Amino acid sequence: MSVGTGVGNPAPGFTRGTGPRGPSQDNLAALDYRTEAAAFLAPPAGGVIDAHAHLMGAQAPRLYARAAALFGVTLTYTMTQLHMVEPVHEALGDAVRFIAFPTWADPNPGVTHREGYLRVIEEFRRRHASRVLKVWAAPRLRELIPDGADCWDVESPWRVRACELGRDLGMMYLVHVADPDTWFATKYADRARFGAKPDAYAGLERMLDRFEAPWIAAHMGGWPEDLERLDGLLSRHPNLHLDVSAARWMVRELSRHPAAPGKPDFRSFCLRWKDRLVFGTDIVAMDDHLSPRKANPRSIKADQASDPDAAFELYASRFWALRALLESAFDAPSPISDPDLAMVDPARFDANSSPRLRGAALPHDVLHAIYRGNAQRVLLGWERDHP
Ligand SMILES: [Zn+2]
Repeated sequence: MSVGTGVGNPAPGFTRGTGPRGPSQDNLAALDYRTEAAAFLAPPAGGVIDAHAHLMGAQAPRLYARAAALFGVTLTYTMTQLHMVEPVHEALGDAVRFIAFPTWADPNPGVTHREGYLRVIEEFRRRHASRVLKVWAAPRLRELIPDGADCWDVESPWRVRACELGRDLGMMYLVHVADPDTWFATKYADRARFGAKPDAYAGLERMLDRFEAPWIAAHMGGWPEDLERLDGLLSRHPNLHLDVSAARWMVRELSRHPAAPGKPDFRSFCLRWKDRLVFGTDIVAMDDHLSPRKANPRSIKADQASDPDAAFELYASRFWALRALLESAFDAPSPISDPDLAMVDPARFDANSSPRLRGAALPHDVLHAIYRGNAQRVLLGWERDHP
């Protein structure tokens, strides 16, 4: 079955059941992602930039690179812990840049996310020429550091100190400000403990005013559920950009728009903000994906795959879904299962449920801006101006 596009963009081939492995959580339709990759639009000159990935280990980044190359990616910005940078650099060479990122492996999260992070930022800048630092302000920090009111929120004192240091070092910002609405409806339902989702955005807006360097807000600013809110944020803050990373979340929520009659649709949103959106995947690649033995048994990500072929499928599926969402007119269940569906509504969904994926079939010039042009201007431009 081949899926028509309606506007002339090549759609992914979507020939069910031709993949080498049969169905899996990352490939419910048993697609051959290698064949599928070739059916997408030719990448822009210079290649696609993945502005948001998490590469770890010696082998998994090579599998990531293989999947990335199939989908046209030539440069990746990764959030890799400081002590894990070398093998990733060896695996990807010139095709990788490092975003300053907290050292999660440190035993004391209270230090990691406070003064420890300042030291780490300086080292990333000095040793790895990082010009971007991650501002991680997810609600989960409240579980991790129960006494951390001075570092939980995006404008908390320790986040401000990190951003001041970044300003002094000539760095820009990548911020994670909020998690999916599905999580606020379930695991973060305790408002007294986790706060309400809109609260985080008041702080983000003050930070955007206070620190004038470019910001990229991850995962459609953390609010793909509400395009009107994103519209307001982008209108008020010319230094703000959004990445489209986190494939399952983006597919589930962006395919739903318009959320109601008269509300914005995703395609019009992309046309309006075509200069402010950057491609990213949020793929987590780790050597734990390559065998059933897990070095990090506590990491839920470690269980996402247990052999090299499954790891490749995992990584390829994210590229496939994000590119299908942006450039095709695909309209069918996503081939990637989405556990959030059952988390919110266990009576209707199970572990193999997936949401509707409705492609935006964006015009070529908009796709090229999202795939490369905007990251080239914002990220590579910033690097050029801050050697
Ligand atoms: Zn991420």
